[in-house]
Amino acid sequence: MVSYRLVSGDPSRIPSQEIRQGQTFIIGRNRQCKIKNLKCSRHYCTVQVSSDDRKLLVQYMKEPNKSQLFSSNQTIEGPGFMYRVKIVDSQPSKDDDFEWIDHESKKIIVGNYLGGIKSSSLIAAFDFDLTLVTTKSDKSFPINCDDWKLLDNRLPKQLSNLYQINYQIVIISNQMGISTGKVSTEDVKRRFENVIRFLNVPCLVLISSQDDHYRKPRYGLWTFLVEKTDQPIDYNQSFYVGDAAGRKKSPLHKGDHSSGDLLFAVNVGLKFMVPEKFILWAQSQEKTVPDMSSKLLQSVKCFRPQEQSYDDHLLYDVANDRKITDLTTILPSTVHCIIFVGLPASGKSSFYRQHLHSLDYKHVSNDLLGSEKKCVSISSKAFDEGKNVVIDNTNITKANRAKWLEFCRTKKVLPLIFHFKIPLEHSLHNNLYRKFTTTSQSTVSKVVIYAANKKSEPPSPDECNNRLYEINFRPQFSDDQNRKLYYSYLNEK
Ligand SMILES: [Mg+2]
Repeated sequence: MVSYRLVSGDPSRIPSQEIRQGQTFIIGRNRQCKIKNLKCSRHYCTVQVSSDDRKLLVQYMKEPNKSQLFSSNQTIEGPGFMYRVKIVDSQPSKDDDFEWIDHESKKIIVGNYLGGIKSSSLIAAFDFDLTLVTTKSDKSFPINCDDWKLLDNRLPKQLSNLYQINYQIVIISNQMGISTGKVSTEDVKRRFENVIRFLNVPCLVLISSQDDHYRKPRYGLWTFLVEKTDQPIDYNQSFYVGDAAGRKKSPLHKGDHSSGDLLFAVNVGLKFMVPEKFILWAQSQEKTVPDMSSKLLQSVKCFRPQEQSYDDHLLYDVANDRKITDLTTILPSTVHCIIFVGLPASGKSSFYRQHLHSLDYKHVSNDLLGSEKKCVSISSKAFDEGKNVVIDNTNITKANRAKWLEFCRTKKVLPLIFHFKIPLEHSLHNNLYRKFTTTSQSTVSKVVIYAANKKSEPPSPDECNNRLYEINFRPQFSDDQNRKLYYSYLNEK
């Protein structure tokens, strides 16, 4: 298949265009060409690949009898536009129809079928597994590169139709099995090639291979795509189709393994359809793109970062039911010990750095010191020197805290409990945010957070003579990019 590129002489204002065999392209003062010169009509001329494939045939609307052939490197000119003609690819052989490029040390694997990326503001994006294909073997994961069958036989025609009306087809897929060693990169590539050659429509494939910020629902792959696209994306007409939509188990549906595809679409602002809906919509030839995201999102149980309200106060005095904004008003003047309680990533160490470090507290942390014995001996020494101490551990059970409270009694210092009270999902979100934004702080595996949450026993005021304070979690950001990341969905459930 021959494809031509019209390379714009003024690419900052007028985008370059791609023309494939069988397609009729209209140059004019229209939305796609962006030509502004009023002397150019909306339908100035049509361009097609000539029957012998080697030239572009241009026919002018005002002079129906005049047609002209253009070869590669010749220039098509008119009022307000100039394009140089370039052949993009001639008949590809079986092996060079697919081009694979690894980016960022194979964190992103990009596949290009038949020149894949084209200049268009319309994006039709699809998940791969259980959206375009399922396994022939009926197993959850494919057993080899040939273990696939189309989810629906109407897909090849539907994708080709979208391509004909100028959609860029993009497949966005999580393949973490590559980094965990369950499957080789080559096997993944072969399976995609097998399916896409069968679909036979030019497309771009974006694969994330790790559990990083490129993995859906995180928006890294979309940012990557947007940077590669030379036209602003039309979010009203573009869409994303995926099976992981957080649907519950019902007599009609076996239930989705995650909400990753839905949350990805919400993160990047694309309209969303589940595969069954897409098939029906594409069949209907209805122009308006449906969007199922808000309805589906309502029934998904997940942490909603953007819906959190972050009140102004710093702490809440549980026993006296009052909000505190000035920390110093509740700190005893005698030697005391602040015992932190909270899941990993609930903001404990950040709170210490922001509010207690400058007040010269001795910071005692199991993570930093490595053992509880060291924590005890360092605290003991600090108390003997008349210094106040912060115990920056999770102290999640009553028994954990009882040890420290008893220790405070023997050292004759006043204990206070600061409870970093956030739900499990919020802790998981914070932990991922930390993983993607810092290199200094160690992140824990989510298994550790689940385990901590399971044995968690919330502190009560009688454990510490009513000196129990709940910390009001308030996220802080170093820049807008981090803020954007924090307010996106990071977990797939
Ligand atoms: Mg899927």
